[in-house]
Amino acid sequence: MAIHMQSPEQRKQLVELKDLFIDIGAKDKADAEAMVEIGDPAVIAYGFEEMANGIAIGRAFDDRAGAFVVLEAARLLAKENPNAEVHAVATVQEEIGLRGARTAAFGINPDIGIAVDVTFATDHPNMTEGTKRKSRIELGKGPVLTRGPNINAKLFTLLVETAKEENIPIQINATPGGTGTDANAIQINRSGVSTALIGIPLRYMHSPCELISLQDLEACSKLIAKTVEKITPETNFVPF
Ligand SMILES: [Zn+2]
Repeated sequence: MAIHMQSPEQRKQLVELKDLFIDIGAKDKADAEAMVEIGDPAVIAYGFEEMANGIAIGRAFDDRAGAFVVLEAARLLAKENPNAEVHAVATVQEEIGLRGARTAAFGINPDIGIAVDVTFATDHPNMTEGTKRKSRIELGKGPVLTRGPNINAKLFTLLVETAKEENIPIQINATPGGTGTDANAIQINRSGVSTALIGIPLRYMHSPCELISLQDLEACSKLIAKTVEKITPETNFVPF
């Protein structure tokens, strides 16, 4: 509603989902039904744009950026003939219960799994409160490696060592429980999978104008490829 029409109280209130509607310009119900069907999805159709300092803006980088990182890692690995059997997966329905990762992990039955998702960058004014509860994460400062019970300690260490050797900057984020990412579904697949999580720093998550750093994307792909290159059938991920 236009701000002029709102009462002072309404101006302070968050609009609830049930009070939102999409005006498609239909003149009545029959006209609307000729244009759309019940259950049709919709998105706010902002496009991709490059900004200053290698930063890009777009919608749904969460988690199209992750899909890019995984595919790019596969492209890099294809040139290296790795010892490990490698599966690149783009999962669906992560946001509504890690559903695609669950079926993909079951189907592939891997020894290890590296999930790629976006993670909260805390380097902007809205995050002053959030920063108190989270690790400081900045755009352009490299992949974010999560540490905690969702992550296999040896796979984490292998990623950190590889980053050092390859001069890839990394950021560390501690999460004291299961993460809300595909890493959670992968780890507790079948009888357990050694799992890691690579985060792409992102500002304004779940808005139509998410911001990421293109350098971070390339660094994430390179880190995955270089780490996977080191894995052989003898690599042991039993932590202790
Ligand atoms: Zn998300």
